[in-house]
Amino acid sequence: MAHNSEEEKKEDYLFKIVLIGDSAVGKSNLLARFARDEFYPNSKSTIGVEFQTQKININGKEVKAQIWDTAGQERFRAVTSAYYRGAVGALLVYDISRRLTFENIGRWLNELQTHSDMNVVIILVGNKSDLKDAREVTTAEGKALAEAKGLFFIETSALDSSNVTSAFQTVVREIYNILSRKVI
Ligand code: GDP
Ligand code: MG
Repeated sequence: MAHNSEEEKKEDYLFKIVLIGDSAVGKSNLLARFARDEFYPNSKSTIGVEFQTQKININGKEVKAQIWDTAGQERFRAVTSAYYRGAVGALLVYDISRRLTFENIGRWLNELQTHSDMNVVIILVGNKSDLKDAREVTTAEGKALAEAKGLFFIETSALDSSNVTSAFQTVVREIYNILSRKVI
């Protein structure tokens, strides 16, 4: 990329971010909430959006994130390598009310690291924090796993909007910071 000024350089950023994790953890709804402020109580996997480009403000600069959704591929454990290709960030999502989805995080992390060609900034996301009575994974457990694997960590609710913007922003901000350090 050729740039005339520092100014242009920073506004040209387009980051590919992927959503991964077991079926029904809320990936599509996190994206729907973040990009369109919508929620689907009975969503099937059929929302069908391949990716959504969203502008994010980082330190007063506009950065574009191209956020990819699996559109149900993960159900058949058939997330293709094309899905991961070129990704610089990932939201690795589990459902705090379904322990199995947390136990599968290691598998998703392996898959991501196998397929990605660069160092991906990853945030571990414990979604459905609104389901307090049904919680099967504690916040401390999520935090501990993230620390052990060197990931960011956050709990979100696509239903009540809690921390959704923050989850995406954390990843984008970190990628932006890494790149900014490199070009200076
Ligand atoms: P995906 O398969 O990972 O894309 O998951 P979906 O976004 O399709 O969500 C699966 C189901 O969980 C749907 O019925 C959603 O309405 C529900 N869901 C998603 N996020 C939340 C959340 O934060 N809280 C609650 N209570 N339900 C959620
Ligand atoms: Mg989905």
